[in-house]
Amino acid sequence: MKAPPDDFAGRVVRWQRTHGRSGLPWQATRDPYRVWLSEIMLQQTQVATVLGYYQRFLERFPDVRALAAAPQDDVLALWSGLGYYSRARNLHRCAQAVVDTHGGEFPRSAQVLQTLPGIGRSTAAAVASFCFGERVAILDGNVKRVLSRVLAFGDDLASSASERRLWDLAQALVPAQGEDMPAYTQGLMDLGATVCLARAPSCLVCPVREACAAQRAGEADRYPVRTRKLKRTAQSLWLLQARRGDGAVWLEKRPQTGVWAGLYCLPVFDSAQSLEDTLPARVPRQALAPFVHVLTHKDLHLHPVVAQLDVLAPPGPGDWFGAGDWPGLGLPAPIRKLLEQA
Ligand code: SF4
Repeated sequence: MKAPPDDFAGRVVRWQRTHGRSGLPWQATRDPYRVWLSEIMLQQTQVATVLGYYQRFLERFPDVRALAAAPQDDVLALWSGLGYYSRARNLHRCAQAVVDTHGGEFPRSAQVLQTLPGIGRSTAAAVASFCFGERVAILDGNVKRVLSRVLAFGDDLASSASERRLWDLAQALVPAQGEDMPAYTQGLMDLGATVCLARAPSCLVCPVREACAAQRAGEADRYPVRTRKLKRTAQSLWLLQARRGDGAVWLEKRPQTGVWAGLYCLPVFDSAQSLEDTLPARVPRQALAPFVHVLTHKDLHLHPVVAQLDVLAPPGPGDWFGAGDWPGLGLPAPIRKLLEQA
């Protein structure tokens, strides 16, 4: 591993101010509510997708108190389609904690921000550096890639001890002046998103190429090192699409843990037989083509069955919802698609 030149941070800051991304709605503010909201939305989701959601969230919940006071169903409904719903549940819990424990003001230090629901070390650092100029390092997936290349950091990031070492190195690189922190933090994010890409990094136009040990050795592809791959699992679920004569569909609230926690959903069964057992014998039913829905660590093999009936002995608490209600409900993306296709 090599030490970068002293002005690594300066290069990032100067480049960000002239060539980095600007003009995104969350970049024009130091309001921690807005910055935090964008950071949570941008985890696992592309900027282009986040833009519309961010706008709608701010219209409906203009500040942390409005979000904290909203019913969870309203938050999940607005989040519907962004995926990774634990983010939305934690977002809501975090807003409530900010109001209940911190008087409606976000804490100003990354250390305290990290104690809030859904705020990890890197997100806490992003909020503290963007909004309060705290000299604290971020280390999300993109930044791990950039820094492990710049430093030729060859330790296996699957090990938490290695990751802690990289955190320490990242912290040692931050600018001396807090006023440079927003541009530095944004600059690292921009480098990871637009220049130092996972495949085929654009080293020729990279502002830190002279400071980059991996580039000098012609080995950018070697970093980051991570041996352990996430194990994927698969699960089969049967979905009962019970339709009343007027087109309304029976939907149930999912439990607060597990797949699609807290969302409205068609009744879910773990076998075709258990779904069959719920239906009266003479009810007409039709199995639709099964399909796969991919979650982060799991492939869901979904088997929808449509049944026409006006009365259902439901497996869980729920209600009939007509097509006019669906847009206002927090529904998993594949369920929304199924309903809209019918
Ligand atoms: Fe990444 Fe290449 Fe820049 Fe190094 S020089 S940080 S490998 S883009």
